[in-house]
Amino acid sequence: MKIRNLALAGAISLGALGAGIALKSFLPQKFPVTPELEQPEKMLNTADFPAIEVSFLRCASVTWPEPVMVRGTTSLAPCRIGYSAVLIRHPQATFLYDTGLCGDIYLFLREQSLFFRSTLARFTFEQSLAGHLKRLGVRPSDLDFALISHLHWDHISGVPDIPMVPLRIARVEYEDAHLDLKDRRRQLLRSLLGENNITLFECSGPPYEGFSASLDLFGDGSIVLVPLPGHTSGNMGMFINRSNGSRLFLLGDAAHLAQNYLLPATPHAIFWSRVTWNDVIARKTLLDLHRFSFRHPEVTLIPMHDAQLQEACMQVEQQSLFGVH
Ligand SMILES: [Zn+2]
Repeated sequence: MKIRNLALAGAISLGALGAGIALKSFLPQKFPVTPELEQPEKMLNTADFPAIEVSFLRCASVTWPEPVMVRGTTSLAPCRIGYSAVLIRHPQATFLYDTGLCGDIYLFLREQSLFFRSTLARFTFEQSLAGHLKRLGVRPSDLDFALISHLHWDHISGVPDIPMVPLRIARVEYEDAHLDLKDRRRQLLRSLLGENNITLFECSGPPYEGFSASLDLFGDGSIVLVPLPGHTSGNMGMFINRSNGSRLFLLGDAAHLAQNYLLPATPHAIFWSRVTWNDVIARKTLLDLHRFSFRHPEVTLIPMHDAQLQEACMQVEQQSLFGVH
């Protein structure tokens, strides 16, 4: 009897502990933020930069409850997560930042586990990368290259639609992806990358805007890459400095939604642990983005999955393109 009571008490304690941990995982986490110290800094004069056209090409979307995407929120509003490529038309090159999804994406995913397909790889397909390019009158051969923010399936799934286009990937990202391993996830990455030519690069330039290093892609300061590690080891952000619109800062997956860097807040602990390479580094990057957003409110920081923010950006782009006010 005593043993049974002890077992019961143990089970209740464990249950309470489990419930406590589960509850805690929804509560906000403390970040060492000091908004009073973050003063807006001098704005960059962009008058001498070239005109650069930017188009977000959303290939799919899915909704997740806000507490999944923003830890500590009390709202249950659905958040729209997009899967997008970004088409950038610069005087020196027409290129993509990430690639969205190809038309055959379901064929590529069918070998993956049901669990993966019904959680992280669950989405409503909208338009393939090839469909978007056709609509815009851009042939794959018009693309000079595709810059990959990081080597996760949802950022390279458009590559099969642009089979001859060279890919540019950060060396650290490529080497840490260990594509030689034989598991299902690596097989998916390898088959998505296909036979496309790959050029590896390093961010060997000086610190830029408070970020540790940089790569000035065209040598004119208009497209500047900065490492935003944590989500993966080589997740790559990209500044777009131009004369025909506001400065943009594409974040890869350093943040999933704007709320992640504005508050700052990670997604829910379970989601975060599933998608994060290094928790400490990823949090530091989130904090760096939070501080940067205070110092430079004129710059739009755009996570690659924030469908709502990307839609708002596209509206502004179209207004400036067609002179609608
Ligand atoms: Zn992603």
